[in-house]
Amino acid sequence: MVMTQRIAVLGATGSIGDSTLAILAAQPQHYQVYALSGHHRLDKLFALCQQFLPKRVSVPIAAVSDFAQRLSRAGLDIDVVGGEAGLVDIATDSQTDTVVAAIVGAAGLPSTLAAARAGKRILLANKEALVMAGQVMINAVKTHHATLLPLDSEHNAIFQCLPLAIQQDNSQIHQPNHGVRKLWLTASGGPFLQQSFAQMQQASIAEAVKHPNWSMGQKISVDSATMMNKGLELIEACHLFDLPEDKINVVIHPQSIIHSMVEYSDGSFLAQLGSPDMKTPIAHALSYPDRINSGSQPLDLFALSGLEFIEPDLQKFACLRLARQAMQAGTQATIVLNAANEIAVDAFLKGQIRLTDIADINEQALDEIQLPPLNETADIEDILAIDKIARHLTDKLVAKLT
Ligand code: NAD
Ligand code: MG
Repeated sequence: MVMTQRIAVLGATGSIGDSTLAILAAQPQHYQVYALSGHHRLDKLFALCQQFLPKRVSVPIAAVSDFAQRLSRAGLDIDVVGGEAGLVDIATDSQTDTVVAAIVGAAGLPSTLAAARAGKRILLANKEALVMAGQVMINAVKTHHATLLPLDSEHNAIFQCLPLAIQQDNSQIHQPNHGVRKLWLTASGGPFLQQSFAQMQQASIAEAVKHPNWSMGQKISVDSATMMNKGLELIEACHLFDLPEDKINVVIHPQSIIHSMVEYSDGSFLAQLGSPDMKTPIAHALSYPDRINSGSQPLDLFALSGLEFIEPDLQKFACLRLARQAMQAGTQATIVLNAANEIAVDAFLKGQIRLTDIADINEQALDEIQLPPLNETADIEDILAIDKIARHLTDKLVAKLT
């Protein structure tokens, strides 16, 4: 382990930010909070600045001067930067060793990609960055000798169940001697697993964001209710582990104790187990290849009543089917799916559409925006152009429903 890793937490005011900072606060001998960012809850960000005394902080452009004055009145000497450029600046800062990419949605892509191009150690929670730009991201990581460690609990579990050679170079997964046959992503099934589609149609916002096992931000909670989250994770896994979608199975495991599995050619299934607490994968990635105390509750095996495994219903959870379809179609389709989903989830959270409309909108967006496959040289500008088209069309689809 680097003696004191200097960490930039992008998305510090969110749920992953909370879990990360709880570990960093408990391990000051190993980690220095070098920089923070926040977008909405600036009072919370201010309190984090008082607690962690970072050297730099990024806020929305419009808030830079107020926030800087507030810090200075409190006697805090912290450099304040703003907007996307501010996030990129912090992510690529020569003093930053590790970037925790914990911004939600497409907004996290530019800074995450910039961190890869600056050769940083990246702890990736922002799955949308890989869904939109998986190939570009992975190429950047390889070209610039960055390190990409997954925080998403499923991907972190799979990473832990793979041999060192594959952890260090994902293309090694194709070597027959490693014997990797399949990956198994576990899914909780979300709050509507036991309910009918008709009940799901009537779901309130509060019911949709109330996850049975995990406490998370609003967008990912809605994604879990529709199982779009597992769809995004399927695409994320294809990029992280260099596999086609048909090598990755999804199994519903309502207890969220097994966080995912690797199936080997000799019949072995290796699984990673733990309490459903994001501090475990975050601590794993922070200290990799060493281990530290995450502060999560150890799993009480004697208290577990049973572990179930259920095949997902792709009619009820159409978003999962759409993710496979998009992955087969290519990056242009996964960008469209991600953008449409962000707009649709936002509309649901504003009370404009029903939960089950999200899948319909995503499907219509995929059907109506038929683009030629992106070529090998496609870069971030091409990706953002498709993202923009998809958001514009999805706004219209939402408007039709409201
Ligand atoms: P959250 O909503 O709790 O926090 C999001 C963070 O991003 C906040 O700090 C917010 O200020 C910032 N942000 C939002 N919009 C922004 C914008 N336009 N520009 C800059 N910053 C912006 O979300 P979360 O649950 O912490 O999830 C963060 C990411 O981690 C998501 O991609 C999610 O899919 C992934 N993830 C979360 C969990 C979890 O348990 N919460 C688990 C696995 C993966
Ligand atoms: Mg996950």
